[in-house]
Amino acid sequence: MPEGHTIHRLAARHADLFAGDKVHAASPQGRFAEGAARLTGTVLEATEAYGKHLLHHHAGGLTLHVHLGLYGKFTDGAGEPPEPVGQVRLRLTSDRHWLDLRGPTACEVLTPPEVAALRDRLGPDPLRADADPERAYARISRSPTPLAALLLDQSVVAGTGLIFVTEALFRAGLSPTTAGRELTRAGWERLWADLVALMTRAVVSGRIDTVRDAHLPEAMGRPARVDRHGGEVYVYRRPGAPCHVCGTAVSRGALAGRNLYWCATCQPA
Ligand SMILES: [Zn+2]
Repeated sequence: MPEGHTIHRLAARHADLFAGDKVHAASPQGRFAEGAARLTGTVLEATEAYGKHLLHHHAGGLTLHVHLGLYGKFTDGAGEPPEPVGQVRLRLTSDRHWLDLRGPTACEVLTPPEVAALRDRLGPDPLRADADPERAYARISRSPTPLAALLLDQSVVAGTGLIFVTEALFRAGLSPTTAGRELTRAGWERLWADLVALMTRAVVSGRIDTVRDAHLPEAMGRPARVDRHGGEVYVYRRPGAPCHVCGTAVSRGALAGRNLYWCATCQPA
């Protein structure tokens, strides 16, 4: 599933393509025909990312809400759109650009109170200037739940997925199974600042890199990581491989239905 940096990149991209323009909305597949009809002919005023949720705010007060989930994908281009291929839930067009959305978990039109309700159920997003990390710490510091599960819970922190969470815990030297209530305030402040830094960097580069300079392939004389995620990481999807810091084989275990990765030496339980 795309993590928050991808959604923030999409929000910026869609603002570049459409902000200030009158748009035509359609649902070639048909499943979003009613919603598209409500948006068509309006000006797309602004876009917004909140965690893994993408919002297009239209003149007149309606908002398009998209959650990509596991399979959702946008494509876009300039000029005349091509014939729709596959299950296009939403096609947005202006005089200048087109945008297709396929396979999202959510694609719906929200009213202002519904947008407010969506924001209320999300925790602070490290990529937003208005984020209040105290709200997250209030939940974490009272909870017996493992830190990894808390940080993956979008009502605690919004936008963090498995890669950012496993990597931030490694960089902090915290075991994923540490109970939330064992995290000190200073520990939380460092963890939050690290999430902000890692995620901000990913928005710029479009990939998730978490290793410090001393552990880059060229610094260590090791081959670069090769997988579809691209970035250089410490433990995510490296089970059995040597930890870049201490050489211990990286561990893998299941927690809350997700595969977690950690170094038992650098992140003692
Ligand atoms: Zn290690």
